[in-house]
Amino acid sequence: MTPEERHRHIRELAERVAAHLVDQWPQEGAHINELEDFAERMGHSVQREVSERVLQDEAARKEGNQCPCPDCGKMATFQRYHWRTLVTAAGRQPVRRPYYLCAPCGKGHCPADRRLGLGPGHTTPTAQARLAVLSAMEPYVQVADLIFQLGLPLQLDLKSTERVAQAVGARLAAAAPVAPYGATPRPVALGFDGVMLRTWEGRKEIRVGVIYEPDREAPRTPAGEASLRKEYFATTGSRESLVAAVCARALERAAGGVGGVVAVVGDGAALDWVDLDPHLPRRVEILDFYHVMERVGEIGRAMHPGAAAAAGTWQAAMKKTLLEIGPWDLVRQLKAWQPECAAGQEVRRVQLAYFQRQQERMRYPAYLRRGFPLGSGAVEGACKHVVVDRLRGSGMRWKLPTAEPVLQLRAALLTQPRLDLRGYAASHLPPVAA
Ligand SMILES: [Zn+2]
Repeated sequence: MTPEERHRHIRELAERVAAHLVDQWPQEGAHINELEDFAERMGHSVQREVSERVLQDEAARKEGNQCPCPDCGKMATFQRYHWRTLVTAAGRQPVRRPYYLCAPCGKGHCPADRRLGLGPGHTTPTAQARLAVLSAMEPYVQVADLIFQLGLPLQLDLKSTERVAQAVGARLAAAAPVAPYGATPRPVALGFDGVMLRTWEGRKEIRVGVIYEPDREAPRTPAGEASLRKEYFATTGSRESLVAAVCARALERAAGGVGGVVAVVGDGAALDWVDLDPHLPRRVEILDFYHVMERVGEIGRAMHPGAAAAAGTWQAAMKKTLLEIGPWDLVRQLKAWQPECAAGQEVRRVQLAYFQRQQERMRYPAYLRRGFPLGSGAVEGACKHVVVDRLRGSGMRWKLPTAEPVLQLRAALLTQPRLDLRGYAASHLPPVAA
């Protein structure tokens, strides 16, 4: 196309838009809503005209009279043009694409579909990316309403919306993991947890992981939250594969710091620190301070039965000791304690065993000095953000293979809210039947 032809196209297009909007120009004194509606309609008209024009040209472009068959690799021959309505970011647009038939295998295809990156429902990559983002954030049934409320011209039925999100999520899962943050000199922490999901096969556990750079000074604002540089992981698959992936990424990030040591925070659940040796031989294991303080509260009440004030005083003193010195004094006091009642004896037995077993994970003064976190709040938050907020809506029930792509989308988008999902758009449609 010569520059003169392009000029002519643009002039014609502007004239067409002008022709059907000229009568709609708002009257003087029109309400602000009318003004904005008009501006938006005008914008959409231009967008649709331009999109139609450039897409039509690209869709109709022939790759010669023959092209290789995607099924058998032999040469297919051009037959005719096939019409298809595409779902684009600018709305639905009919285009015609050259159709090729392969005589040796009898299958036909439109090479333009692959070139245009069409996905389920004949969606363009930009349409797929937007539908996938909205589907990751809200239940599928609400996506069409959200699109309406946002004034987007994008339109797609429910079933195809679901297929688009599934396809983009599946390609995201199959691609190399997103690595938004490089090596850092700051402390690096991670945590694992599990959260139950209702599926058609019963309750299944979703594995969740998070890596972050803890900062006690970070304000509790969106900007402060972003400064923690959280990286989310979730899967319906095995714990082993998640642990391997999370640990490998955490090591890459910690490589920038002194010694490359990673802190692994947990609330004391059975699997918190299991099987980490092959992945993180040098790590600091930290037991969530708030869970520890719950136990300290129970001990205080058992040590001072019927004396709430004394129990509270003891608990406050023990909190200070834990943070300033460590757990050693608590273990010593538990050993020396000789409860008279059976209930007290039981508390002593259970808690002494627990604190003796876990005391190496309660070196809180050292964690504070090294900038490591004391709590497992980040991983508890990860379970909520990645899984609960989207996959545990009332009445929701999943199949694991359809939950997995949504988990991948959410983990990626929560890690990188501005990730360009077009890179993960489906690249072609199944061949057209001959
Ligand atoms: Zn063929």
